[in-house]
Amino acid sequence: MGEAGPNGMSNSAREQLLRERIVSHGRSLFERGLAAGSSGNISARLDDGWLLTPTDSCLGQLDPARLSKLDWNGKLLSGDPPSKEAFLHRVMYGERAGANAIVHLHATYSAAVSCMDGLDPQNCLPPLTAYFVMKVGRLPLIPYHRPGDVALAEAIRGLARTHSSLLLANHGPIVSAPSLEAAVYATEELEETAKLFLLLRDAPVRTLTEAQIAELRSVFALKH
Ligand code: ZN
Repeated sequence: MGEAGPNGMSNSAREQLLRERIVSHGRSLFERGLAAGSSGNISARLDDGWLLTPTDSCLGQLDPARLSKLDWNGKLLSGDPPSKEAFLHRVMYGERAGANAIVHLHATYSAAVSCMDGLDPQNCLPPLTAYFVMKVGRLPLIPYHRPGDVALAEAIRGLARTHSSLLLANHGPIVSAPSLEAAVYATEELEETAKLFLLLRDAPVRTLTEAQIAELRSVFALKH
């Protein structure tokens, strides 16, 4: 057994718990249609590296023992080879010391918005609900890059420091949070807001005002 952590749980017990939670969240996202085929990936920070879902794996059928365990140089320490999108996660962790988990999906409504022309690249979804403001905040759009293009890491680097969630153009969202649950819930909130945005496209919409957003930021001490 490893060294005891601050909450009394050993590092190895904590890692095992995280592995099981990644698998159960992956299955839940897959079963509800938020990840199709082998798309999407989930990661979590450990005391001695980080865990990531393997390449070509289906989020609905993950095996806790086969998740990729990596060091901070991207070297595989154990498990199956990592997702080809590992570098997106690594750059985001590098910019965000408080991020302990990241979820990246190609979920339908978020991906649909990511394909729309004329989005505000600084903030591509309006503040339709308080929960979107609280869990996601401002959502910058990262220009399109082909799969595996490491230039995408550079495009993310500057914005990840000040934004917990980013939308990759013609691709999907990448969301970081202090815990795995928070990252999953923020990703789902983003997906629901993308759905609302598309449902409301032809209707006059009343978004939250600057004052209402400022009130949320103050009352809930929002940092993103
Ligand atoms: Zn992707």
